[in-house]
Amino acid sequence: MQTQMPVDSLGVPRFVGVPTFMRLPYVRDVGDADVAVFGMPSDCGGPYRTGARFGPNAIRAQSIMLRPINPYQGNVNVFERLRVVDAGDSPVVPGYLLRSMDHIERTTARLAEAGAVPLGLGGDHSVSLPELRALARVHGPLALVHFDAHTDTWDSYFDGERYSAGTPFRRAVEEGLVVPERSIQIGMRGSLFRESDISQSLELGYQVVTTDEAIALGPDGLGQRVRERVAGQRVFFSFDLDVVDPASAPGVQTPEAGGPTAREILSMIRALTGFEIVGADVVETNPLYDGPGQVTALLAATVAAEVLALIALRR
Ligand code: MN
Ligand code: MN
Repeated sequence: MQTQMPVDSLGVPRFVGVPTFMRLPYVRDVGDADVAVFGMPSDCGGPYRTGARFGPNAIRAQSIMLRPINPYQGNVNVFERLRVVDAGDSPVVPGYLLRSMDHIERTTARLAEAGAVPLGLGGDHSVSLPELRALARVHGPLALVHFDAHTDTWDSYFDGERYSAGTPFRRAVEEGLVVPERSIQIGMRGSLFRESDISQSLELGYQVVTTDEAIALGPDGLGQRVRERVAGQRVFFSFDLDVVDPASAPGVQTPEAGGPTAREILSMIRALTGFEIVGADVVETNPLYDGPGQVTALLAATVAAEVLALIALRR
């Protein structure tokens, strides 16, 4: 396959053409791509504000603003290091969470088995469990690096249902998909259902860094903390937009006041060098609640581009 380069926005205006992620080629067969961006338009796992099914295409529409060189990472040109494609969306069955999860698992497996790093655009956070099921079959159990205002390690919701946006990272431990002792959850804050909402993650073996602790550590301290925790294990990187302050990212399912600004969260992500990401997702972008200028979708696209840069630095 040829090196996959995005459409050059110095030559073709951004508003011309079909908006794929960062104006990359849209392919069904990912060939020998290094990274395959794909959508997971499923939101029937969301306990509160649904609409993240519209997230992938909202992120794509804002991503056409992004340029190939990342000045925060030594001017790395992501697309000279990596062949990146937009592999389209996973099929889903609206209203049928388990069937949608099966589709997402099959789509993730197809991309990972082809040798690509799947970079998924959500969708509510229930999508991470089928991604991890597929990735653990290819790579073995993974270290989880998880940004979120919430731990998403509850046991069940609503009359004992075990699958939802609030439970994927408990199921992932139970199913042996992640190594909790090598995993870290970052950004937790806000009011609790029970006192155990944080300690339930610690009991599963995760490390938890609250929003206040992450701000106090600063980007460099946080990067060091994550590198020490991951310790050479291959990583699944999962980013829930609700980790960001609702002023910077209003378009989410479950907003929590008092989070990092867009600038603060991007600085944190840029510090996460020095480990191998074999799968990633950027989830919980809900354009139905986004602000003027689609700030949440723009930030989600930027986070995904920063993840691409982290992957490019390792090649
Ligand atoms: Mn979440
Ligand atoms: Mn959350």
